Amino acid sequence: MINPANRTKMVELSQIRKMFEVTNPDAINLGIGEPDFDVPENIKAAMSKAIEDNDTHYTPNKGYVELREEIVKKFDNDNNIETDIENVIVTNGASEALYMCAQAFFEKGDEILLPDPSFLSYEACINMSEATPVPVECSMENSLKLKIEDVKEKISSKTKAIMLNSPCNPSGAVMDKEDVKAIAELSEDHDFIIISDEIYEKIIYDKKHYSPGAYCDNVITINGFSKTYAMTGIRIGYLNAGENLNEELLKIHQYCTACANSIGQIGAIEALSGPQDSVEKMVAEFKRRRDLITSRLIDMGYNTPIPDGAFYVYPEVENPMEFVRTAADAGVITVPGLPFGENGRKHVRMSYANSYENIEKAMDILEGLNNG
Ligand code: PMP
Repeated sequence: MINPANRTKMVELSQIRKMFEVTNPDAINLGIGEPDFDVPENIKAAMSKAIEDNDTHYTPNKGYVELREEIVKKFDNDNNIETDIENVIVTNGASEALYMCAQAFFEKGDEILLPDPSFLSYEACINMSEATPVPVECSMENSLKLKIEDVKEKISSKTKAIMLNSPCNPSGAVMDKEDVKAIAELSEDHDFIIISDEIYEKIIYDKKHYSPGAYCDNVITINGFSKTYAMTGIRIGYLNAGENLNEELLKIHQYCTACANSIGQIGAIEALSGPQDSVEKMVAEFKRRRDLITSRLIDMGYNTPIPDGAFYVYPEVENPMEFVRTAADAGVITVPGLPFGENGRKHVRMSYANSYENIEKAMDILEGLNNG
């Protein structure tokens, strides 16, 4: 019997993925974490051409220069972050960027502030680096937003970093500007890193997105193409990190994956430089569904904060495990809140990356169970 390393013993495979393996294929799936849209045609055409042009070799470790130039422009235009192509690394999805941060900077004895609830990979990456996750509650009173007062309470001499994710998976909460700015200032006073996962930046409704990287230098800003351009399977993400952080990150990237896939990088250039109308259409449709699902859940009596971004809704329910099981038996897949953190023990996550019609049907089924 081969004994696994302690670092892998510390983590479990995603319970959410496990659930999908056992569920009825005819059920309406509100468990999904990816847009139900196809990659826009102009991006597909660019990738097809890349294959025809034999653009199938290794790229520079940090990614194609032309892509990094587009990313630098994007940071400047959208995020008020002034950077340089040398600070940008193109990764195999935001997932790799998160793992790189943990491997490059976290170790035993470090405390990493982790919003509760937050995306499952954060805790797993922290555990695999042998650092300690320190949950910071995002309370219902604050509409599930991370607030500076709650962060301050958890700072210690061991605080090495904080994970930020606005808009948030699983809650859809969008952080307020004053909190983003105050956390940036706090990170300078206490000398810790901010890892800002901005992958849902563009999927936001009537709110503005603020990047901590606009306010201080010790930020690693992570983004990617999976959500905005529905490119989940293409696996392209990126990060921006100042000179003092970049080299360590590159070591992990270089020895783990060498570079991100060449064809996907060509698609990513087109995504950033081409027309953005498909993004606008997708976000408008997500907003229509957000309005539908939240109003139906509220009508059913569930305490449901209105999400300002991403494509998830995070209602409070009495007994999440029972809710998830009963809903699945009736033909609606949802996800319990607990895997996203202790704070989720009274929540379920529903994704509205499914058609308007299916969401209507799913809500009818839930309403039937509620009345039954
Ligand atoms: N961050 C968050 C908050 C996510 O929800 C996801 C995907 N579910 C990722 C990162 C990973 O994205 P990618 O496909 O770019 O690896």
